[in-house]
Amino acid sequence: MAETIFSKILRGEIPSHKVYEDDLVFAFLDINPLSPGHTLVIPKEPVATLDQLSDESSAAIGRVLPRLCRAIMRATGASEYNVLQNNGAGAHQAVFHVHFHIIPKLTDGRGLGIGWKIQTLESADAKQLVQAIVGAL
Ligand code: 5GP
Repeated sequence: MAETIFSKILRGEIPSHKVYEDDLVFAFLDINPLSPGHTLVIPKEPVATLDQLSDESSAAIGRVLPRLCRAIMRATGASEYNVLQNNGAGAHQAVFHVHFHIIPKLTDGRGLGIGWKIQTLESADAKQLVQAIVGAL
């Protein structure tokens, strides 16, 4: 994987506001927060997208993510939040090192804004998709 700004943060070559670290995971405040407490949780494993992440790093992130959410909610006083994880430039990924955003959603509107363009799931399409996904697992 190409070197990213997050590799430099992991190595301590670029400063960050660290909120958590263990052998496999690092978490720090986002430099351009959507709301106070906006935090990035990253594996130390240097892969670009979630589908490339090892089971070991995935488990380590899964173990700590709810704990970090609880701490951020307690610290900021927010009671709602989004966890966002972008993969690929077309899906709004800007830094190509896997990361999860924890973004408090405040009553004044600060936080993640979402503009979903919903479609209807047709039954025939659903059957075909389920078959394809299950077959690819
Ligand atoms: P993405 O769009 O890839 O999901 O989000 C990347 C995030 O990384 C952005 O929210 C951006 O503000 C954050 N970011 C980019 N560079 C730095 C940096 O040098 N330090 C910190 N703390 N956050 C960064």
